[in-house]
Amino acid sequence: MTKGGGVLAVGSMALDTVKTPFGSVRDALGGSVSYFSASARFFTPVSVVAVVGSDFPARHLALFKRLGVDTTGIQRVQGGRTFRWQGVYSYDLNNPRTLKTELNVFEKFRPQLSEANRRKRVVFLANIDPDIQHSVLSQVRNPVFTACDTMNFWIENKRPSLLRLLKKVDVFLCNDAEARELSGEHNLIHAARWALSRGLKLLVIKKGEHGVVCFSKQGVFTVPAYLLEKVFDPTGAGDTFAGGFIGSLARGGRLDLSRVRRAVIYGSVMASYNVESFSLNRLAALKRADIERRFRHFRELTRF
Ligand code: AMP
Repeated sequence: MTKGGGVLAVGSMALDTVKTPFGSVRDALGGSVSYFSASARFFTPVSVVAVVGSDFPARHLALFKRLGVDTTGIQRVQGGRTFRWQGVYSYDLNNPRTLKTELNVFEKFRPQLSEANRRKRVVFLANIDPDIQHSVLSQVRNPVFTACDTMNFWIENKRPSLLRLLKKVDVFLCNDAEARELSGEHNLIHAARWALSRGLKLLVIKKGEHGVVCFSKQGVFTVPAYLLEKVFDPTGAGDTFAGGFIGSLARGGRLDLSRVRRAVIYGSVMASYNVESFSLNRLAALKRADIERRFRHFRELTRF
């Protein structure tokens, strides 16, 4: 049996209420797998596994279809309420304060993958309950590589499950605060040593406007974030980075450091576009030429 091309992604599909120093939105389209798929689709076909309630606007599902994302793995629970997240950012845009997390339909979600989704070459477990991430991982057949993301909510509420997951995936993406909280190490090199000793091939630590550090047994790679004049809403920057990063890697399927470097730049470019507006607005309007233009500019900004 041949492997299906593209990426299978599971994660939250949400209605977000967000306040930044520059504006606010209520019940706007958000969620880890939403940002991930709207970004990764530029690089590789993406199939999404998620659940929404009957209150989830049909126009959001229509948007994913328009963007070419495979939505057949999205379940709609009649009478159920969609996952909701509420967060606020101060002028330090790197760390939001979570005001409310309502799991709603995700509380009882145990995905059943279709045969096509079980055969995907690359699997991305976007930020969601690690038990759901395990459930997806246990159903896929021998992917070329697997990656996962998480957040403080799950580090604090499902730590044992998350630690078991880290032993099963190849790549782990998190932000600097999460790396410190999970490892108990303040220094990121020590945190990376802790993570790589658990069997990971690659650890990607996102540091918001300060960029990304990528650790593997082959070495370390670090870049600043793309320099922006206008940052409006950082929500989803991490998931959007993951979309460009994993999408770019999925095209070749290998994790050698030269491909990883290129993927980090694509991830950074995608995240830089996302923070320019609320929700998925900028990502939905983006063109491939915009991505390549900023990729070239990124090279100029960081070359010496
Ligand atoms: P990011 O800014 O990349 O860390 O991700 C922001 C997205 O994560 C928002 O759109 C939220 O809907 C989603 N989110 C927030 N909390 C959780 C959680 N506990 N589990 C899954 N997704 C979440």
